[in-house]
Amino acid sequence: MHYWQMQPIPAKMAHLFQLRKPSVRIPQPRIPDKWLAAFESDTDLVEQRVAIIMAWVVLITMPMYQTSHHLRNVDSEGLWMAELLFRIPGVLCGLLTLAALHFGRPQLPARALLRMLGISVMVMILALFLIHYRDHPDNMTQLSNGLVITFFGVTALAIRGLREWCLVFLTPFVIFLVIAPFAGIPRAMLLPLLFDPMVMVVITLVATAAVRHLRIREFLARQELTEIASTDQLTGLLNRRPMHPLMVHEVNRARRTGTPFSIVLGDLDRFKKVNDTYGHEAGDLVLQETARRLQAAIRAQDIVCRWGGEELLILLPETGPEGAGQVAEKIRAAMDDAPVQTGNEVIHQTISLGVSSFRPDDTVTTLISRADEALYEAKSAGRNRVVQADQPG
Ligand code: GH3
Ligand code: MG
Ligand code: MG
Repeated sequence: MHYWQMQPIPAKMAHLFQLRKPSVRIPQPRIPDKWLAAFESDTDLVEQRVAIIMAWVVLITMPMYQTSHHLRNVDSEGLWMAELLFRIPGVLCGLLTLAALHFGRPQLPARALLRMLGISVMVMILALFLIHYRDHPDNMTQLSNGLVITFFGVTALAIRGLREWCLVFLTPFVIFLVIAPFAGIPRAMLLPLLFDPMVMVVITLVATAAVRHLRIREFLARQELTEIASTDQLTGLLNRRPMHPLMVHEVNRARRTGTPFSIVLGDLDRFKKVNDTYGHEAGDLVLQETARRLQAAIRAQDIVCRWGGEELLILLPETGPEGAGQVAEKIRAAMDDAPVQTGNEVIHQTISLGVSSFRPDDTVTTLISRADEALYEAKSAGRNRVVQADQPG
């Protein structure tokens, strides 16, 4: 039996397990502002994968179509060069996409690559349609099939939704509809040829909306679980779990770019005594108030976590020893300057802090152990003070 079959599910997670009647609409779930950046990078990842698949499809199918007219019973008399000319941009976009995603050069976001691929394929198929109709209007079955396949592929590329689809699919298509009569195709002839391709577009739009809906729901559930797993319930701060990857990221960035960063390790002074004198609940309130004051003392890009019982770790990106010393002193003063009110008690709670700043040969472990030693020194020297492992200047 699973945990959640025996226990009531915490209110925060309840919606993850609820079975609801399916709605006949496909409403897109709203993404909270705090997760928009994470959703953007999730979307970018999906777009990268789709761009790779699409690039291979283009690179494999274009030469196949270019060299198989006789197998497909297509009368392309005199159009071989013209077809090649319209297929080359698609092939180049496919190669560019693979190069950009494999080597990171040229530096182009997956979204731009998908746009390029989609538009180049649309332009190719619509141009082929025009030149074939002009020369062989009675033999358009193959091209109508080509439109069905292409419209499916290009519509499925619009991972981000209708706006992207309007740019990649609808704009070239409307331009085609406008210029077709001038290129010799009567409008009355277009409808029978475009009917099946348009049905394909509608089916693909509905399918991609459903997939997008499922993807957003899955993303929200994953984020919620990640947030629950990485948040300390008492203080609402991050817990220790997500800190290691964040620090590894900072170490790598500092090595690569030379950007400094620092960490501050804080430990409440004589906290055992607070618990013993005023009770554990009062101790909990002191911890919550400490978390509030710490968060008020740091910048938005700094990250504070509950490292252990009453130990806190603050990660200060883009901060050298001097700045880190100032932040630590601000935190020390924030605790020392005003006592904590817990119901009837007024508790003067202080904190000791050890600071270490990144050195080129540092790992996460050496950085933390230097902050720990500095904290130990602060305790030995009488508490309620800041000690820096790496002196400024
Ligand atoms: P020092 O100045 O040397 O740090 O003295 P200390 O008494 O703070 O010693 P230490 O850091 O070893 O003590 C940690 C105490 O913090 C032990 C434990 O009772 C208390 N503590 C840890 N987690 C919690 C918590 O979640 N709530 C409460 N109320 N107390 C906690
Ligand atoms: Mg401690
Ligand atoms: Mg302590």
